[in-house]
Amino acid sequence: MFQSATPSVAELHAALGIPAGYAATRGLVAQLPPPFWVETGLDRGGRPIWLEWNASRAFKRLTEAAQGDGVPIVVISAYRSNVHQARLIQRQLERGVVLDTVLGRIAPPGYSEHHTGRALDLSCADEDEPLTESFEATILFDWLSRHAGHFGFRLSYPRNNCLGFIYEPWHWAYA
Ligand SMILES: [Zn+2]
Repeated sequence: MFQSATPSVAELHAALGIPAGYAATRGLVAQLPPPFWVETGLDRGGRPIWLEWNASRAFKRLTEAAQGDGVPIVVISAYRSNVHQARLIQRQLERGVVLDTVLGRIAPPGYSEHHTGRALDLSCADEDEPLTESFEATILFDWLSRHAGHFGFRLSYPRNNCLGFIYEPWHWAYA
């Protein structure tokens, strides 16, 4: 899909058919990787989770508190590279989803909060359909809504957010 081993954001956008200047038009801000990473447990698939140093410490405290309240947290996704982001978009396009719709659900490469190592997609141990609005009805969402702010985490994409992303009750970021 990509010409070079380490494609630039512009190359990734061109390969996906995202018009030049798209991010600026939409008011999206470039998201950069952090200077310090910490491996922070495993995701649902058993892969190591990488988080930015401060986010890692805060997330550990948050998960311990949730666990203590009997609300275990499962991580679906944390850090993602630009190329990983591009592959997620490519997969949707291959399924026949229109680019505009895809970019309302998945940020363009270079513009995802997941690039910063400060954002996490969360789920419960027993959730049937993770990464859907139904997460809003879970005990975990209720817990996060009441306590995540105490640990420095916030919901990035509430309903009708001005960035034009869909409502993502599962996506929390360390601010
Ligand atoms: Zn996310």
